[in-house]
Amino acid sequence: MFKLQNVTILGATGTIGQQTLDVIARHPERFRAFALSAYSKVDALFEQCKQFEPVFAVMLDADAAESLRIKLQAIASPTQVLSGLSALEEISAHPEVDTVMAAIVGAAGLKPAMAAARAGKRILLANKETLVMSGNLFMQAVEQGGATLLPIDSEHNAIYQVMPARKLENLADGGVRRILLTASGGPFRKASLDELKAVTLAQALKHPNWAMGPKITIDSATMMNKGLEVIEARWLFNATAEQIEVVVHPQSVIHSMVEYIDGSVLAQLGNPDMRTPIAFSLGHPERLESGVSSLDLFKIARLDFETPDLVRFPCLRLAFDALKLGGTAPAILNAANEIAVAAFLAQKIQFLEIPQIIESVLSHSKIVEVSSLELVIQADEAARLAAADWIAQH
Ligand code: NDP
Ligand code: MG
Repeated sequence: MFKLQNVTILGATGTIGQQTLDVIARHPERFRAFALSAYSKVDALFEQCKQFEPVFAVMLDADAAESLRIKLQAIASPTQVLSGLSALEEISAHPEVDTVMAAIVGAAGLKPAMAAARAGKRILLANKETLVMSGNLFMQAVEQGGATLLPIDSEHNAIYQVMPARKLENLADGGVRRILLTASGGPFRKASLDELKAVTLAQALKHPNWAMGPKITIDSATMMNKGLEVIEARWLFNATAEQIEVVVHPQSVIHSMVEYIDGSVLAQLGNPDMRTPIAFSLGHPERLESGVSSLDLFKIARLDFETPDLVRFPCLRLAFDALKLGGTAPAILNAANEIAVAAFLAQKIQFLEIPQIIESVLSHSKIVEVSSLELVIQADEAARLAAADWIAQH
């Protein structure tokens, strides 16, 4: 017999949230969707509430919450509807919750993830922005709260799977020489700078291997996603920037690798399907059926590797710069990127203006030590304003 785990899913209506529910639905004897959240997609959350009957449903937006409440009352649903940021923190730290899937997109995911860490939950972290913005504070909160942190990002989940099982003070203690972080290279891997200038939104939204939400899809096209992941790896595995190498691997079959001092390189492979890292983290240390099909190596036939091009993909260089600058620089990078990506999605700026905005905001911002969450949030807000200014002036 298993103890039934109560799971809160932050961002249940997103691509990660939906895939988490897909895995949970395969194991009703082990997991119960205790609380589900969304920003404003009432119909999507309503359908999930009908199917999973969670104790709580949270919509960030109050009007959306009211619409959901009316719809659920009409079918005599047992689910209680809450709204606002404090409700997201409440379902993350609720005493009956065992596991929190942190799958809100962007900086908005920070506070609820932090609440789960402080409350000592088992955190399945998809929201990489939390670590980018406040890696040291979040890792401290995990430690102090007695939380367990499992990475959902496919690369970090792969690294986690091939790292030594015991907790390491640093990579050298485990005999690890470096982390090889794989990147698909996105839809523009082969595009020239001139071609990149003229990229359309529709082209940027077509990822070759993964089906993801719009923000991370654009991040993959600019390779900022990989930059954010370098910073994420720095905190998850206590690695230095020099110990992380980005390897472009277009097939997205090797999800990342770890090289040991004896020359061994361990990799985790699988089809590009997020249900693998989700099932791994839900079940850990046991393995669970995830619905992911077998890897057909004969069909894949070959695996290619390339070095990343930091001239065509300046976002990756900027992320390394921010990591080296330290302090609030990664939070500034992240905030400027979120504004720039939103503007690109709204077709207000060109593709190559995304890195221009970030570079300008980073170079004009004051960088301070990350000693409190308030400082991170201040840096985030100032960078958003600076990025919006840049857009208004160009
Ligand atoms: P989606 O855009 O598909 O989903 C985002 C979810 O967050 C939705 O439920 C959305 O609600 C909710 N949300 C959006 N904005 C807010 C807000 N301000 N406050 C509260 N909730 C909000 O994103 P993904 O599922 O693709 O990504 C989620 C996170 O996981 C990101 O941090 C991403 O980087 C990371 N990740 C995703 C991967 C993937 O394969 N998709 C892979 C690795 C990491 P609503 O539907 O109502 O708008
Ligand atoms: Mg990833």
